[in-house]
Amino acid sequence: MGRAIGVLAMEHIAVGLVEDHRLVGPVRVYTDDGSASSLLQSMPADQIAETICAQMKEVAQGQPVDAIGIGFPGIIRNGVIEESPNLPQTKGFKLESTLSTLLGGGATVRALNDADAFAAGVAATRGHLDSLVRVWTLGSGVGFGRYPSSEGVWEGGHVVVSLDPKEKYCGCGGIGHLEGVVGRRGMRLRFLDLEPDEVFANARAGDRRCAEFVHTWHRALAAATATSIHLEGPGRFFLSGPNATFVDLHLLDRYLHEMVTMSPLQGSALELVEASDETAIIGAAVNALRGVNGAT
Ligand SMILES: [Zn+2]
Repeated sequence: MGRAIGVLAMEHIAVGLVEDHRLVGPVRVYTDDGSASSLLQSMPADQIAETICAQMKEVAQGQPVDAIGIGFPGIIRNGVIEESPNLPQTKGFKLESTLSTLLGGGATVRALNDADAFAAGVAATRGHLDSLVRVWTLGSGVGFGRYPSSEGVWEGGHVVVSLDPKEKYCGCGGIGHLEGVVGRRGMRLRFLDLEPDEVFANARAGDRRCAEFVHTWHRALAAATATSIHLEGPGRFFLSGPNATFVDLHLLDRYLHEMVTMSPLQGSALELVEASDETAIIGAAVNALRGVNGAT
């Protein structure tokens, strides 16, 4: 195995040292006063890389590491940020090579999508490093993480789950997308008079419009999960993020069974897992070490 630094750059920059799938020492968070979200959004890409670098040096304390893994929001391919809706100034930024240069070479640098980093962390901390792990991150948008990380785009949050042309609430502007039904932003646009928490509370209290939507919400999540099963086979699916509190696992499982009927595709497991910086940091580090140790 070896020692690696894991980084999660999302709302803030969180950095930790990882050995044997565990964090060693405290996680450093930049900044820890809660202002980092807007700070990163107004920061040029080069400066984000320099900030990550400075935090990593603090964590390493001059000790050598074998690998550096960075979880970053957006489509990351071959070390380049191809698209990052939340940090648009980083589009086209060569994250891996820039960090490698800033650090003066030595350790392998591997960047991956933040949801993939979280999926790798879930696999590493729950003993699933030998199997396929998929994670839905339910928040303002919908993230899809996959372990092991693999060549491809994997924008699972934008899977089409409806043919209704009125389903237009996805942040990307695409029609019929999972995120447009399940994402917090989409729910607020759909129910202009209610917050998502109120929609789910009203459904429990018997409000028909809200109750119908709660079923649609679960059917959308089941549909996207069924699509993933039909493309890659059954397996473990984890649900995470602030909106995972809305998930009714029994309802989701029931709809999934209706949508996946071929016998070799049965047997997927649905589980809730708490989102944490620590898990994503471990995942980013484990993924980078796999690169050093020759796994794909
Ligand atoms: Zn979309």
